[in-house]
Order: sequence, then C-alpha cells, then structure tokens
Amino acid sequence: MNNSTIAAISTANGPGGIGVIRISGDNAFTIGDKIFKGVNGKKITDMQGYTAAYGFVYDGDEKLDEVVATVFKAPHSYTGENVLEISCHGGMYITKQVLRAVINSGAVAAQAGEFTQRAFLNGKMDLSEAEAVMDIISAKGKTQARAALACREGKISKEIFKVNDILVGCAAHLSAWADYPEEDIPEVESSTLSKDLNNAKEIVENLLKNYDAGMVLKNGVDTIIVGKPNVGKSTLMNQLTGYEKSIVTDIPGTTRDVIEETVVLGDITLNLSDTAGLRDTDNVVEQIGVDRARKKIETGGLILAVFDATDELNDEDVNLLKTISSLPSVAIINKTDQTSVINVEFIKSLVKNVVFISAKNGDGINELISIIEKITGMANFDPSVATLATERQRDCAVKALDAINEAINALEIGMTLDAVTVSIEDAVQSILEITGERAGEVIVHSVFSKFCVGK
Ligand code: GDP
Repeated sequence: MNNSTIAAISTANGPGGIGVIRISGDNAFTIGDKIFKGVNGKKITDMQGYTAAYGFVYDGDEKLDEVVATVFKAPHSYTGENVLEISCHGGMYITKQVLRAVINSGAVAAQAGEFTQRAFLNGKMDLSEAEAVMDIISAKGKTQARAALACREGKISKEIFKVNDILVGCAAHLSAWADYPEEDIPEVESSTLSKDLNNAKEIVENLLKNYDAGMVLKNGVDTIIVGKPNVGKSTLMNQLTGYEKSIVTDIPGTTRDVIEETVVLGDITLNLSDTAGLRDTDNVVEQIGVDRARKKIETGGLILAVFDATDELNDEDVNLLKTISSLPSVAIINKTDQTSVINVEFIKSLVKNVVFISAKNGDGINELISIIEKITGMANFDPSVATLATERQRDCAVKALDAINEAINALEIGMTLDAVTVSIEDAVQSILEITGERAGEVIVHSVFSKFCVGK
C-alpha cells in the first residue's frame, strides 16, 4: 500500500459553517505541527487520541484561519492510520488555502475514495461496508439512509460470513473424507450436505430478494406519463412536482416534448417524463414528440397512463390500454371532479392497477403513490433486512447462487464428490468477493474510484 500521508477537503465544495481538511498517514501529526499553533502551546504530536485543540493555521508565516484540530491516533481512526482533522471556517477559499498549507508541508492530495480505501486495506471495514459509506452520503430519504447504515454496520457481511461458514464446512468435510478414507471420519451423508447447501442457498436468495426494491430506492424509477392530448398529463405532472413546468392549455397537443423531472414521493424517486399524446399528427414538431413518447413506452420502467373520465374511450385509448396491459403500469382515470362517462369496467378488464384522481385538485394522488409503492416493491421494503446494495455485489451473489445450485445438482445426480467440491469452492470465491476478502486489486480500485475526493 502507498504509505504517503494524504490530505483532502472532506466537506462539500461550497460555503458552509465549517470546512474539514482531513490528513491521514504516518506524518499527519508532524505536518500538523508545521501548520498549526494551538493557543495552549501544546504540539499536535504531544496530543492524545480523540482530543481537540483550538488555535490557528499558518502557511509559513501567513496566518490563514482560526481552527480546531482533532487528533485520532492509529489504529483508532477512520482509516486506521494517524488522522488529523482541521475544522476551519467553511469558505471555499479558506478550505483550499488550508489544504494548500498542508500539502506544502509534505502531504499529497488524496485520490477519490482514498481514505475509505485505506480503511478497507487496514481492515477497518470490508468492501460491502465501504460501499455503504457512499450510499449513506448519497441517501435521499430515511429508508435509504437506514438501509445504507445497516450495511455499513455489517448487515450484509454477517450474512456472507454465515454462507461462507456453511460452504467451508461442507468443503472441509468432503475433502477430509476424500483425503483420509482410512481415518475414522464419518462418510458424508449426501442428505446432510444437501441440507447445508440449501441453507446457504436460502441466505443468498434472501440477500438478492430485495435488491430491485433497493435499487428503486437508490436510483428512482423511470416513469412516463402517457395518454391522448388534453387528458391532464401536464396537470398531473405539475401536481406531482409541485410547481408548473409543463405548459397547461386547452389546446390538444400542447405538450410536445418529453420533459424530464425528478419527483420524490415519500421514499420513492420518480424520474418522470411527461410525454406528448400518442395520436398521429400532421404537425412535424408534434410528431417528433409522439415518436419519442412511443420509444419511451417501450423502454420506460413504469407507465402512468392517463384517461379523461369526462370522455368516452376512443381507439387511441384502447390501443394504449392494450399496450400497457402486460407492462408495469397504472391506468389513471382523471377529472373525477366532473361527471364520469368513461367505461371503467373495460379499463379494469385490461389493466390491473386502476386509480381515480383529480389532477386539478389533488384528489387520489395518495392512492396513486400507494399503488406505485406496491408495483415497485417499495411497500414491503424493510431497510433493516440485509439487502445487497450494488450491482457488483449482486453479480457476485448471482455467481455464488449458480455455483451452489451446481453443487446441489451434482449431489442429486450422483456425480463424484470432487465435482461437488469444485462447485462449492467456486461459490466461496464469489461470496467472499462481496466482502472483498477475495477481491482482486482491479475490483477494489473500481469500487473506490466511484467515491468522492475527501471520503
Ligand atoms: P395534457 O394535454 O394531457 O397534458 O392535458 P393538460 O394537463 O394540459 O390538461 C388539459 C385540460 O384539462 C386543462 O384545461 C386542465 O386544466 C384540465 N384538467 C386537467 N386535470 C383536470 C382535472 O382533474 N379536473 C378538471 N376538471 N380538469 C382538468
């Protein structure tokens, strides 16, 4: 591992009450003594771990700012190394000046994620726990933050250890029996082995179970609003976003383009596109919008199809209903504040999720949100249950599951125990890649390259 002393501004790049410059490595405290003068005259190198001192930071002779320096002694720090954190005023200019003084005194600028990478390499956290750090930072809501914190505290790792223990136990027993047949090692009962492997399988399956809902929580769900002109798509979009963005008029076809918008509804983020209606038109500009809308329907994650309760269904509506009947969708019957003439039974015969709203006055919006939570799996998402949190972790778990299934299958069809052992070892390899115990340098590097500088 690179043993230079690294430094970075760990707070956000913008003005704030406090800015923190973090320094980590063998020379963190001697660098601290070059730039910091405490009002009590004590040197950083003489301070105890977990103590702070008030004083001033200098770049050479130039006084830069009034600060608090906090000392964390190895191994009792975030990185496991000596760490000094300088809390100065949170101005963008000042934080950069303090960082420059630190670098002038011998530190090097930290790479993205380098503090956390060092924490991982020093055994302070495993790879899944390190990935959770980024998820905590980027959490947009309570459930997401709670789920990320559970992973940071080792929720995933605990399950991985369980699976690993089971698999290693199976492999050890198999190899002991195969290698020392003359010893008094009881023959492996294939039913016991199969039971153990099925237990391991169940744990991995549970880890994968909530993955999609977790991703919805993290990345939001791509949602499109479709329907013929004038049914109230823009009004609904505005109701959801809370302000007027689309152009709402009485002239059919006013919404000509796909408008992208992010809306946070409770725990769910909808990446919304308000699309044009789907009718064919002679208007070239409008037709471009219609074509885009069609494309969006094919690729979108969730479809909110809007119908006008005050109007009979026409061919365009029927086509839309047929298109969405097999896709994740909600049929929204709008304008229920007025007399309804629409054929609700027909809509219900084609689409499972039907909701009645008035986009104009907000009636039914809560029901719409509940239905969306149900469709996206969010309604049952429990943030305290261990759930894989990244595509990398999911890939490893899927590989592990395949290998476990292979082992179970090999047992069932009576293949040699060697064949079973090979599959079990493959499963162990994949499962330990999740925690990083068996992850190569390239994987580790790619994980930390996604971090921000200063973390
Ligand atoms: P779009 O073409 O589908 O985007 O439709 P708009 O959102 O532009 O709405 C078309 C017209 O329907 C506007 O005059 C809206 O004020 C009206 N409208 C939309 N939602 C409702 C509703 O819930 N009730 C009533 N009464 N009118 C609505």
